[in-house]
Amino acid sequence: MNERTVTCIECPVGCEIKVVLSEKNVVSVSGNGCNRGKMYAENEVVCPRRVVTSTVRSERGTPVPVKTERPVKKDEIFSVMKKINSAVCRLPVKIGDVVVKNISEDIDLIATANID
Ligand code: SF4
Repeated sequence: MNERTVTCIECPVGCEIKVVLSEKNVVSVSGNGCNRGKMYAENEVVCPRRVVTSTVRSERGTPVPVKTERPVKKDEIFSVMKKINSAVCRLPVKIGDVVVKNISEDIDLIATANID
């Protein structure tokens, strides 16, 4: 058995959640104030994910703010950043437009600003 404590970041309460693992399987979760925190803690110890935010160079050189539409696996972030750094965005672009399709698994990189 292995025990990990994570701080839930799903809301400002910041519950300290204890997760007991047997190899890679979750045996028990305690300390969570709600079910959302249980899911967060389980994912955090088994397969942590993060939303990646950055900028992509546009064809005119203007930086275009972007983010992954959903959290990507933490161990994929380096590869995602390499793709972001080599991408070039066509203008104009609107919030929510796909800048890089399937940048990780089936997750797209999308624009977070309108740029003409
Ligand atoms: S477990 Fe629930 S109540 Fe506690 S920090 Fe997470 S979301 Fe908030």
